[in-house]
Amino acid sequence: MSKPHIPYGRQDVTDDDTAAVLEVLRSDWLTQGPGVPKFEAAVARYCDAAHAVAVNSATSALHIACAALGLGPGDRLWTSPNTFLASATCALYCGAAVDFVDIDPRSRNMSVEALAAKLTEADRAGTLPKIVVPVHFAGQSCDMRAIHELGRHYGFRIVEDAAHALGGAYRGTPVGNCRYSDIAVFSFHPVKQITTGEGGIALTNDPDLAARMARLRSHGTTRDAALMKGESEGAWYYQMLELGWNYRMTDIQAALGLSQLGRLDAHVARREALAARYDRLLANSGLTLPWRDPDCASAWHLYVVGWNEAAFGLSRAQAFARLRAAGIGVNVHYIPVHTQPYFHRLGFRRGQFPAAETYYAGAITLPLYPTMTEAQQDRVVETLRGLMG
Ligand SMILES: *Cc1c(COP(=O)(O)O)cnc(C)c1O
Repeated sequence: MSKPHIPYGRQDVTDDDTAAVLEVLRSDWLTQGPGVPKFEAAVARYCDAAHAVAVNSATSALHIACAALGLGPGDRLWTSPNTFLASATCALYCGAAVDFVDIDPRSRNMSVEALAAKLTEADRAGTLPKIVVPVHFAGQSCDMRAIHELGRHYGFRIVEDAAHALGGAYRGTPVGNCRYSDIAVFSFHPVKQITTGEGGIALTNDPDLAARMARLRSHGTTRDAALMKGESEGAWYYQMLELGWNYRMTDIQAALGLSQLGRLDAHVARREALAARYDRLLANSGLTLPWRDPDCASAWHLYVVGWNEAAFGLSRAQAFARLRAAGIGVNVHYIPVHTQPYFHRLGFRRGQFPAAETYYAGAITLPLYPTMTEAQQDRVVETLRGLMG
């Protein structure tokens, strides 16, 4: 009999969560009711940010963040190649160009040195970015203070792709407080720290950016008479001020998110405990283990090890296949974005961001989620050790 499958990530949904969702389903408001503002306020409070705009995905949040910052044709956005596609495609949605900054192999985050060097060149060439999107890979913050300093010097804006990092901290304060950025974005996809099914949120301390993002998620419309051209024509009246989208989160999703938020700290603590246990069980194994930045408390979205083909006499692909065959739901984060066929058509080539490509060649994401048991973790470690000879 084959052993049960252990996924790489999995949501935790309790009876309290389902009760909160049922309550909304029986109420007057499935969407555009009181649930979304309540969830927004709770996330903003948790992260110590002034404003929050909840949407239907982090992808949408990245899009409206870029649009609200005025990103458009002729502009450039830079991000990390070691990320999910959405950190880059948000530029393309706005008609802007995207480029990448290679990673620091230790943190697997955007390298501040590589960023500084690329900015020096771009300054000379007149090709500076309008927005930089640092991605807090695996839940550990980028060096935001250094990136912010470069932003002030070169005049770019900063959108944190914090999709991995809800519940994490940087220099003792919550990721998402936007102390070193204009906007920070979180995802509520089921593999992330808390879930709304699909969902995302953009946090900011700038009231004008918040108001603009709120308009952009709802067709670019407003009911605020102070913002209208001419007079309001009555209580029914709204105006479309700019092109927007329907990126709204439903009250059903917000209720699930609000209920989940109450367990966020426990989820992150459990992830941290399991990560520390992986560290212990895999010490001296020959695998490259995640590096802990002393400036950060990671939210531990992912636990990624570096496979050493030369030492183990087995390729990463072979190891991956055997783990999957043994019911261990390993994954790989991330295929460097610039190597995707679509980005090849935009002119990117393999070899352009060697640190991200080398990291990718050995990366294996091990299962990690709050309801994972130590017995499941032991099975992951034993299977892995069995492949290492
Ligand atoms: C999950 C994720 C996203 C996209 O989030 P969605 O809510 O699925 O749109 C963006 N960036 C990163 C780094 C992610 O991990």
